[in-house]
Amino acid sequence: MNSATLSVTFLGTSSAAPTKDRGLPAIAIRREGEVILMDCGEGVQRQVLAQSIGLGKDMTILITHLHGDHVTGILGLLQTMSLAQRRKPVDIVAPAKLMRWLEATSDLLNFGLTFPIRFAPARPGVVLRTSELRIRAARASHSVEAYSYLIEERDRPGAFHPEKARALGVPEGKLWSELQRGRSVTVGGAKVSWSEVTDPPRPGRRIGYSGDTRPSPRLARFFAGCDLLIFDSTFRGADRDKAVERKHSTCVEAASLAKRADAKRLVLTHFSARYTTVTGLLREARKVFPNTVAAADGLTLAVDYPLG
Ligand SMILES: [Zn+2]
Repeated sequence: MNSATLSVTFLGTSSAAPTKDRGLPAIAIRREGEVILMDCGEGVQRQVLAQSIGLGKDMTILITHLHGDHVTGILGLLQTMSLAQRRKPVDIVAPAKLMRWLEATSDLLNFGLTFPIRFAPARPGVVLRTSELRIRAARASHSVEAYSYLIEERDRPGAFHPEKARALGVPEGKLWSELQRGRSVTVGGAKVSWSEVTDPPRPGRRIGYSGDTRPSPRLARFFAGCDLLIFDSTFRGADRDKAVERKHSTCVEAASLAKRADAKRLVLTHFSARYTTVTGLLREARKVFPNTVAAADGLTLAVDYPLG
């Protein structure tokens, strides 16, 4: 039965410029031995160390767009992994130009990696599948080519009912595990369908990350029903004109989108350095979408299974 711990740790929660309390954008999703980093702002590797994330894990890096504040930290991270003699490949999903930048830089700075990069250019649709997760991308609305990501856990098998299996004459053992896995079996020439003894599969958990974007109906659909939605909240509601001009979102727009998407929980992040505190932004968002939290560097949130 799949009951792995799934958590999100915020490594950097500022926007274009860091503050003394907030680093540049980076988020880690942890599930068993697997790590997914979403954006790699400058300094991400120290935050990875501070949060004991472990550079030797199975790692996927998702980059939303090629603005320096979201991507320059990837270089140091990859170099440090090489110093540690990493051999396992690293999966990277990003706008296609990322590889050109990495190759040019490794040439100019004369460094090589001890492990392969498996690169997949970001595009709308499923961009990567790991053993337990599926990652989908959608176009975001920012000033350059930009993507939002949705990380979906595979569905879990439904509850198995031993009494029903017994009543249908299925002996305990191998055939029970087949039925639990959603396969039908044959007993004494009669077929027993898994659905007679096992409840329908239960949905896995889903985490959405907007990256830098204006809100859009497309993103409301993309994030529909997700368990945790992490959304661009660069500005407070009164600064909406700045959000429109710079292709970001306000905390109120993030909350409205979470409401439209029927998300279970919203996390605001990517705060403009102009605000010394984000309490006001959080309060504004909660008026629209009560189950909202404000990200802070080092904050870890567990993501629970949906009820039912
Ligand atoms: Zn940004």
